[in-house]
Amino acid sequence: MKISRQHCLELDAADPMAHCASRFVLPPGKIYLDGNSLGALPKGTSELIAGVVEQEWGNDLIQSWNTAGWFELPVKLGDRISNLVGAAAGQIVVCDNTSINLYKTLHAALGINADRNLILADRGDFPTDLYMIEGAAQSCGRPVEVRLIDDTANIVDQFDQRCAVAVLSEVNYRTGLRLDMQTVTSAAHKLGILVIWDLCHSVGAMPVALDDAEADFAVGCSYKFLNGGPGAPAFVYVARRHHSTMRQPLQGWWSHQDPFGFAPEYAPTTGIKRMLSGTQPVLSMRAIACGLGTFDGVDLQALREKSGQMCRLFIDLVEQECSQYGVALFGPKEPARRGSHVALSFEHGYSVVQAMIARGVIGDFRAPDLMRFGFAPLYLSFAQLFDAVRIMRESIEQEPWLDSRFNHVGAVT
Ligand SMILES: *Cc1c(COP(=O)(O)O)cnc(C)c1O
Repeated sequence: MKISRQHCLELDAADPMAHCASRFVLPPGKIYLDGNSLGALPKGTSELIAGVVEQEWGNDLIQSWNTAGWFELPVKLGDRISNLVGAAAGQIVVCDNTSINLYKTLHAALGINADRNLILADRGDFPTDLYMIEGAAQSCGRPVEVRLIDDTANIVDQFDQRCAVAVLSEVNYRTGLRLDMQTVTSAAHKLGILVIWDLCHSVGAMPVALDDAEADFAVGCSYKFLNGGPGAPAFVYVARRHHSTMRQPLQGWWSHQDPFGFAPEYAPTTGIKRMLSGTQPVLSMRAIACGLGTFDGVDLQALREKSGQMCRLFIDLVEQECSQYGVALFGPKEPARRGSHVALSFEHGYSVVQAMIARGVIGDFRAPDLMRFGFAPLYLSFAQLFDAVRIMRESIEQEPWLDSRFNHVGAVT
């Protein structure tokens, strides 16, 4: 049966999360399907940052490190993120970016499994992860091999006892494929392998259960589904059982036992603060709290359900409206096996995405031919998905690949 706009409006009327959209400043007339890449602006962020600049910085000056709690932000924000990723407090700090945190955790894991010399990763993972792995293998002080896996759906079959650490994204940034963290981690542990989970595309889109899965390490962004703002620092999780043994190479003063003792020798502090390096961008850090505030009172299971419903509706609508033009789903179809975005392969994907953006439907493009659309359940409606797919069809019919306006490639796609 054909899916109608009326049906989508009915889904919206029954959506228990519909009121959450009012927590965001969203430009009228736009349909934002890129919240998996840069989350929307929460209401309150602008005012908060203005206050931080004027009062905390402008008026209170350096005292704010104490009086406004700037120094404790990495730990305080980390504890707030814990609630979204199923971690007990004291195991997450917010700092640096995902790439750097990955580097630190790789070294920590290679240090713990010091008698093993192999890193496993997904060839299809976000390339920065692969680059950092390459760099960590080169800089860890012993010969370490990197093995890239082509088919992560059966990743556990690739595990062997030579492997020190596996780096895996819970949700793949392109295909949307979701791995079962619990199953994969426990298979790894049976062979003594540590796992670093990259949560960039799962945190804020679904419940994550780090402690239950007995995860070792995890990293993730705060500027995607967590709505922390462009370039907002990332987070890093280390299970408490590793705190006393882990060492990381970027051992700056923020991870020193006594940062204000100014001793010339390094002595690591205890606990998760060992993952810190140096001073953090306070303004960006402050904005993360507003991003996290958009999840207040939100049941993550309900969020996941809405996300799955949105993915399914979008896939069905694309099939209904656009499959005759050769637009095809890339990645798993079942909602349980995917995250909160959908990639579609189409020969002229780049120009179609540009033509859609020109009409206010914002998605993105991932080489070689993928149109990628993310569904942030907090602020999207089902009717918007209907409208977006209709605009996709009309954009394709307009053949934007013949129009130079839609073929210009910017520095960021
Ligand atoms: C977005 C993303 C990153 C981004 O890393 P940065 O260091 O913040 O630039 C890394 N890994 C994955 C899987 C991502 O999706």
